[in-house]
Amino acid sequence: MIGVVTPIDLRSDTVTRPDEQMRRAMAAAEVGDDVLDHDPTMAALEERVAALLGVEAALWVPSGSMGNLIALFLHLRRGDRFLAPLGAHVLDAELGTAAWLAGGMPHALHSLTPEAVVAAGGGESPYYGLRSSLLCLENTHNASGGTLTSAAGHEALVAAARSVGLAVHLDGARLWNASVALGVPLTALTAGVDTVQVCLSKGLGAPVGSVVAGSAAFVVEARRVRKMLGGGVRQGGVLAAAGLVALDRIDRLAEDHANAAALAAGLRALGWDVPAPETNIVLASVPELDKTLLVLREAGVLASPMAGKVRFVTHGDVTAADITEVLHRVREAA
Ligand SMILES: *Cc1c(COP(=O)(O)O)cnc(C)c1O
Repeated sequence: MIGVVTPIDLRSDTVTRPDEQMRRAMAAAEVGDDVLDHDPTMAALEERVAALLGVEAALWVPSGSMGNLIALFLHLRRGDRFLAPLGAHVLDAELGTAAWLAGGMPHALHSLTPEAVVAAGGGESPYYGLRSSLLCLENTHNASGGTLTSAAGHEALVAAARSVGLAVHLDGARLWNASVALGVPLTALTAGVDTVQVCLSKGLGAPVGSVVAGSAAFVVEARRVRKMLGGGVRQGGVLAAAGLVALDRIDRLAEDHANAAALAAGLRALGWDVPAPETNIVLASVPELDKTLLVLREAGVLASPMAGKVRFVTHGDVTAADITEVLHRVREAA
């Protein structure tokens, strides 16, 4: 129809749709009742992710939020304080479940440094003082614009947490992006953590699914909590099969990073205030957030609000040509 533009959707890397290959794998998946017997395809996915992350065991969960919640639920006693970087998904985007269901007292770290971890998490406190028990990391950091923690930075943070007796959970929703952008294996970014959560449904393109991982003993308990939360599924192999296909697509994330860099450079050339992205998330500072999102939408470019800025996320359903078209539409709309 003349005058109707197909929107280019950069709201999130969760908007990808499973392609033919993925749908065929889902249709053909070998399945069983996972609650009764452990579905074979889910078991295969969990084993593969555990090996990639360098941990003993892993558990498929329907969402990253549930993966994080299960980990926090098992790490925290009621009323324990946990530390997380300002803007962390567990603090701002999980409906308060870290407090409501896991019983944690959140403490946001305004700067995520080993010194800040030691200062906030350590030290003697009187018997009526808060007990700190967990550091929750996030790599890449969504609200900061998909920013990276290097392997050395990660190691220093984990060492700081350990030095004051904190356990460590890593929200690695986009840990794949971090591994590709830094050119290091995933194991370099999970070193020393107790538990880690990774999403299959972001840049890797699965329609559903995350994995929470750690020691074998953790996964035994995590399976019980997943069931409590309503996350025990039956023939989940249909979903896990998509995850197995997704894991073959980790290297492709480099394209998303290149597209994000091109988008940021193009926006800067148009006078926008946009730092160079480190991975697949571009954050633009604008004077009027709501108005800018509306103008973009009318021009056929979908973006989302994040930390008071416009967030554009590149993903597998967006090509380099689409980015050129986005920049064209933004220029026309201005
Ligand atoms: C997307 C995301 C999650 C999990 O989100 P779900 O929508 O529950 O799968 C967790 N942490 C971060 C940083 C995320 O971006």
